[in-house]
Amino acid sequence: MTETPLPDLTNPRTRELCGTMDVHRRLMTESITYQERRALIENRAMAYESQARGLARTGLVTIPVVVHVVHHPDEPSQNVSEAQIHSQLEVLNQDFRAGNADASKVPAVWKDRVADCNIEFRLASQDPDGNSTEGITRTESTKPSFSTDRDDVKSSATGGADPWPSDDYLNVWVCGDLRDSIGRSILGYAQFPGGPPSTDGVVIANWCFGTEGSAQAPFDLGRTATHEVGHWLDLRHIWGDDRGSCSGSDLVSDTPNQADPTFGKPTFPQFSCNNGPDGNMFMNYMDYTDDDAMFMFTPGQSRRMAACLEGARASLLTAPVFALSATGAETPVAVPPRPEAAPQAAPAAAGQAGDGELQALRDEVERLREDYRQLTSLLDGIRAALNGEPAKAADRQ
Ligand SMILES: [Zn+2]
Repeated sequence: MTETPLPDLTNPRTRELCGTMDVHRRLMTESITYQERRALIENRAMAYESQARGLARTGLVTIPVVVHVVHHPDEPSQNVSEAQIHSQLEVLNQDFRAGNADASKVPAVWKDRVADCNIEFRLASQDPDGNSTEGITRTESTKPSFSTDRDDVKSSATGGADPWPSDDYLNVWVCGDLRDSIGRSILGYAQFPGGPPSTDGVVIANWCFGTEGSAQAPFDLGRTATHEVGHWLDLRHIWGDDRGSCSGSDLVSDTPNQADPTFGKPTFPQFSCNNGPDGNMFMNYMDYTDDDAMFMFTPGQSRRMAACLEGARASLLTAPVFALSATGAETPVAVPPRPEAAPQAAPAAAGQAGDGELQALRDEVERLREDYRQLTSLLDGIRAALNGEPAKAADRQ
């Protein structure tokens, strides 16, 4: 069995940990639909960020997850165990609820900026056909490597595994060697909301997935998935991806302006872009620090994710999917049923919204979905008029 090489972290000019912006830039070039949807999503995010629009959701949301393990027959460690997968789910559930023990290491000046995002994740126990499932698929593949450029891990036709419907599930692909568009080894990548459903989800290399099995230090605390799911819920890198110019932003006001990504395990404080006295928030999950050096999301980031969950990803709030609890016991996810589902389904669970609140949430979600459908169709029409294309042109072909 050959050991997967870690990316070269010694050269700051060539190292890259995450391929999300790579994919974002490609989609912006390839797809007018993506450009338009991103504009709509940013408008909504801005309304939430400025608090011109309040949150519709007050309770916890639970997102059904399917993990697609794509493994090479010669490398058994790539076929990650159920225990390794559960260890990853546990980290996500701690980090998105501010329940991570290392949140105590957040510097005193930012302790009041540690956000409970009120988002939890459960392996789906119902597959797209309604059959019971562990929420895990396994695909053997002889491909030595997968890339952001081809998105090849996301399709059985290209040696990967096909997604489950992305309006009902968060698709997580776990694979071996992963490369960005210029061939650099990366830890993972996500697709921002607004992209093609056929490639929607996050991809994580198995050696930085979960906290046991094939996970390798310094990326063995499950924070690659926390970072990538942050992107999938519309978060930007904390330094604003502006190549050090200080002019870019993560579009969230309670994270300091920062020039570049931070690597390793820095000591507090670190400065850039005249951001004293407190400096860079390098312990934020959306930086590039080691897994044991990142501990927090901020309220602004939480609002931005909420904007996404009440906008482009609103369908997940009504996903009719039951989930496995962390202990493996089957419990219904406390989300409202889809309008077409049986009316007696999904009673509110303990600790969740009451009947009235639940109905209000359903109404708001339906209204948001309708909003989104109308705006998308309006933009499709404008695009068709401009380009002489058919109005209902599909996403990315
Ligand atoms: Zn990233």
